[in-house]
Amino acid sequence: DHLSPPKPAWIRIRPPAAGGKRAETQQIIRNAGLTTVCEEAACPNLGECWSQRHATVMIMGDICTRGCAFCNVATGSPSPLDATEPERISEMVAQLQLKHIVITSVDRDDLPDGGASHFAKVIRIIRQQNPQTSIEVLTPDFLRKGRAYEALLEAEPDVFNHNLETVPRFYSTIRPGARYYQSLRLLDDVKRLAPQIFTKSGLMVGFGEEEREVWQVMDDLRVAEVDFLTIGQYLQPTRKHAPVHSYITPENFSDYALRAKNKGFLLVSSSPLTRSSYHADADFRTLKEA
Ligand code: SF4
Ligand code: SF4
Repeated sequence: DHLSPPKPAWIRIRPPAAGGKRAETQQIIRNAGLTTVCEEAACPNLGECWSQRHATVMIMGDICTRGCAFCNVATGSPSPLDATEPERISEMVAQLQLKHIVITSVDRDDLPDGGASHFAKVIRIIRQQNPQTSIEVLTPDFLRKGRAYEALLEAEPDVFNHNLETVPRFYSTIRPGARYYQSLRLLDDVKRLAPQIFTKSGLMVGFGEEEREVWQVMDDLRVAEVDFLTIGQYLQPTRKHAPVHSYITPENFSDYALRAKNKGFLLVSSSPLTRSSYHADADFRTLKEA
């Protein structure tokens, strides 16, 4: 077991507001038989997001072929893909009347294309049936899958998000199975191949990284012309997961935000409770309307 230091006052987890729109959101997601990262990751923002009908759907099952040290998703042998999943997501988007949907997945190293074509099917059907909804995908790294991600790009999501998660020094302990430069190259390739798609990435802080290491990651992302950045505090899901090294202060998060904006990111969210999909809908719409 690993013990994290006690949480400071600024990590205030609001208890999920019961009833109202939150309950409706939950019901619609349940009826569609879908899994959300909001629940799987025990996200501290669930009450707030679901009350605003903002949820992040997790596709391709709830068992991952990787085992990242920060992640609460189960590791093991996943089930075969469900061909009805794209249709079910599209129906959920219609029922929740979503203006923006974030779709993520477990890693599927067992599939020849890492799940790229399944992502593409989900995007196409949502686009066809909900043309007003902008689509953000948060994808695996497609390590050792060649250019499989091209199939996904052909379906033209509005935002392509792939999280670097942490600074390169911690990859071997926090994100074993992934490679920092593979993830960075993926973001770079997407921008080159499909410059009209916004690219996005995110980091968790509090693993013991130095500020200058975070600044370096920002620079690496800007070299890859990544458009949006999210930075949030790592919180330990259970004692079996990597411990929190330190709680980054709200002032430090504001400092990261300022630096990121100065480095040229178009959208930046940097705060203790920022998550990859936190406010993704409102932020993206604001940008499009600007
Ligand atoms: Fe779900 Fe993202 Fe909101 Fe968390 S921040 S509840 S994962 S939509
Ligand atoms: Fe969790 Fe993603 Fe890592 Fe799988 S690849 S363990 S879903 S963070």
